[in-house]
Amino acid sequence: MGNFGIQESLFEEFSCILEILDDEIYLFTKNEFPEKSDFRNVLGLTSENNGSFWTHKARFASLNAFVLRYALRSSIGRNVRLSSEDSERLKKAANNVTLPLARLSDDGKFVEILSPNLKVYKELFSRLGAYPNQNGWRLRLDRLMDFELSMDSWKSHLPKIEISKDLLKLNREPIPGFDGTVDSLRAIPIGALNIVRANVQNRNALKNSKATLEEKLAKLKLSTLHDLLFRLPRRYIDKSKPQLISDLIEGETATIIGKISALSTFTASVGGLRVSVVDSTGSEITSTFWRQAWLQTKFSVGDEVILTGAVGSWKGKPQLNGHSIEHFDEGIVLPVVPIYKQSESSGITSGFLISAIRELLQRLGDVKLPVYFKAEGRQPYIEILHELHLPSNLETHKSAILAMSYYELVYLQLIIQDSKKNVETRPGIPLSGGDRKLQTKAMESFPFDLTNSQKKATAKLNELLATSTPNSSLLVADVGSGKTLVAQLACLRAVDSGAQAIIVGPTDVLARQIYATTKQLVETMKEKFNVNVRVELLVGGIKAAERKSLLKDIADGSVDIIVGTQAVFSETVKYNNLGFVVIDEQQKFGAEQRTKLLSSREDGRIPDLLLQTATPIPRSTAQVYYGDIDPILMKDKPLGRLPIETVWISEDPKEVLQTPLHPIWLDVIEEASKGNQSFVITPMVVDSAKIDASSVERSYKELSGHILKELRVGFVHGQMKVEEQRATMEKFQNKELDVLVASTVIEVGVDIPDATRMIILSAERMGASSLHQIRGRVGRNSKKSKCYLVSIGSTDSAQSRLQSLVNFDNGFEIAKEDLRTRGEGTIFSSDQSGRSEMIFANLAKHSNLIAEAKEEALRILKSPFKEIALKDAQEKFESPERLF
Ligand code: ADP
Ligand code: MG
Repeated sequence: MGNFGIQESLFEEFSCILEILDDEIYLFTKNEFPEKSDFRNVLGLTSENNGSFWTHKARFASLNAFVLRYALRSSIGRNVRLSSEDSERLKKAANNVTLPLARLSDDGKFVEILSPNLKVYKELFSRLGAYPNQNGWRLRLDRLMDFELSMDSWKSHLPKIEISKDLLKLNREPIPGFDGTVDSLRAIPIGALNIVRANVQNRNALKNSKATLEEKLAKLKLSTLHDLLFRLPRRYIDKSKPQLISDLIEGETATIIGKISALSTFTASVGGLRVSVVDSTGSEITSTFWRQAWLQTKFSVGDEVILTGAVGSWKGKPQLNGHSIEHFDEGIVLPVVPIYKQSESSGITSGFLISAIRELLQRLGDVKLPVYFKAEGRQPYIEILHELHLPSNLETHKSAILAMSYYELVYLQLIIQDSKKNVETRPGIPLSGGDRKLQTKAMESFPFDLTNSQKKATAKLNELLATSTPNSSLLVADVGSGKTLVAQLACLRAVDSGAQAIIVGPTDVLARQIYATTKQLVETMKEKFNVNVRVELLVGGIKAAERKSLLKDIADGSVDIIVGTQAVFSETVKYNNLGFVVIDEQQKFGAEQRTKLLSSREDGRIPDLLLQTATPIPRSTAQVYYGDIDPILMKDKPLGRLPIETVWISEDPKEVLQTPLHPIWLDVIEEASKGNQSFVITPMVVDSAKIDASSVERSYKELSGHILKELRVGFVHGQMKVEEQRATMEKFQNKELDVLVASTVIEVGVDIPDATRMIILSAERMGASSLHQIRGRVGRNSKKSKCYLVSIGSTDSAQSRLQSLVNFDNGFEIAKEDLRTRGEGTIFSSDQSGRSEMIFANLAKHSNLIAEAKEEALRILKSPFKEIALKDAQEKFESPERLF
């Protein structure tokens, strides 16, 4: 390269000198070109250091002229020296290049992009997953939003890609039929979304089924825009705080961010790609993509990726199965990525749902709250919806949940306050006992004395039952305090007064348990005092003929006490002089059902109600939450109870299950030899093909087959048929089994007097209150009982949770501790345990909202919108997925 007689002194004035000579463009600079500048786009650029300055040379072609025209001054500096003649030549050549443009393809299914063949554009296309075709590039319509966003944050000096009007319209045009209210979305099919209508599906998805996207979405119960809007993500990945490989829990779905450390294809049978990824702490995990060897062209070693899958293991090493792999910044410009339930076979991926919800939210524009809510001073509804789906960060997401909790609590209060008003104005049933003195006789039939708390609670309830106004009360007491007994005594009081009584349990197993003890009580009473009280069980799954005669006996009043599940709420059951209803562990039953049952008497009188719970809630909260209900607290527990010793075994449950001489199993065997029984609880139910240490299936196999071969081991879980569950529980109760492996079905209330050992595997996966409930299944006698929590407790919050179980045996303390430490995880979710009628609100966490919600509900009930609001509230609680 010549130097054209360039004088070094020129660089004091100019940072770049440009000359065009023949077919070459020459550039002289004092410094080297900036590495990451737009100059990478100059084709065939060669650079050479001439001692005191640099000489760069590139072919004088249109494309290079184009790049230089846009990039020269910005990358090099303001002062470039070039002759006006060269400037003209450069401009003319540059004008031969068409400016980049994106428009809708003729069939309306794709974004078609024409752009100069330059690196900066090609890199963008590859990030967005666009692919070349004869006319330029093609982008799937569902990536349009990402494309627009990347144009908004375009950093290059080369021109932005112009987005045609028809494309810009797609994510902005109003949705036909949407009138500003969420309610109107119930009538708009999901096909109103452009990306659904475009029906772009990949080959695999089409191979599985030729149905349209709209049809496939309908199968996933996403038929309307309303369905979509309230299909909340299952969880979120905070890109700033991904999960660590060392924290993964087998069986759970996890997402990690890391760099690809190895990549290999294999040809065995179907072929595939194996990727190893290392996270920020240096741990490695492997993922296999069967039949997807082509992915290798998309990724290379060193790429930063987001990997999602179910945690498993392969040859003893961690592995993610059933996964997806994406480039970390695949153009999805979201700080927190929502993960939706996806259906891989139909090609409805979480990524697709993200695009759909983004199109929807953007096109909705503004969304009005239902008219009856006061909107001033509150976060705009559309913003809340945005944060629920596409959070900006963890904090804003939490406040959106809080906002929704408030509305949800208002709905609950609408029902409670309205029914309260209806109930208050109606007469109750005075139940002041009768000649048979059933309550006293019952007290004399128990093999033990009542605790002081039980006596006080019973006296208080007797007082309330006797009044002629309807009464609701809430019995709050820690597990094992003997709440059932109080319920039984109150029922007998009602029966003595000539009325019928109901006790409802939350599960089949528990209802049967209450039935059994109540039956036993009345039998003892019959033997001792020759009084007849008839108790019957009403649950689902009773044979038709049996049920028919049972319903007849209930209707004609021959049954005194009905113990049951959900089944008691059925409108087909006609009660006879129903006077008293007890609902044990109330959270599961809706306020709605409750009200219906209580208003079912033909004479319009309202039976008394007793709710029972072990959930510690402050008196003030309880009062408002349940509609000025009076909580009755029971503090003391039956005497002679030894505290349960709780030990946290910080070991991998999987290994414990394979260690025959582990102290836990030796202890279980020792207990069995004394005639005592043990529970082994796992968080997972049956987990089909997958090997999972803490599933019932796996644990049962290990224990019955090897570790505890000499003992009689059974198992029970919620997915078994109710009859099978019952048969197993009966066997355990009758001491035909020494060890019961169970899922959390036994959580609430089951009473096995001789159970002395509770082993909870993978305890970190359960909440503190659940753990406390489960632990309360042992120690129900005067024998020394023990609870083992087996868990490595990988996160800080799991550790403090387990520690609080070790430290405290009081449910109230544990709940307090739980609240204090919860919610620090990097993955956060609005998913609730399904035990509650609430989706967002949590009684313990949001108790401070309740008073305000009550005020708003009362205001609405006085407004002209009362009827619409009540209808919405009822609908909401009838099907929990229906929000407003
Ligand atoms: P909760 O429902 O409050 O958790 P339960 O009603 O299931 O407790 O009672 C737990 C156990 O304590 C049962 O076995 C019950 O028979 C027993 N029990 C209840 N009251 C007493 C008492 N006063 N003295 C001794 N044992 C009692
Ligand atoms: Mg109970």
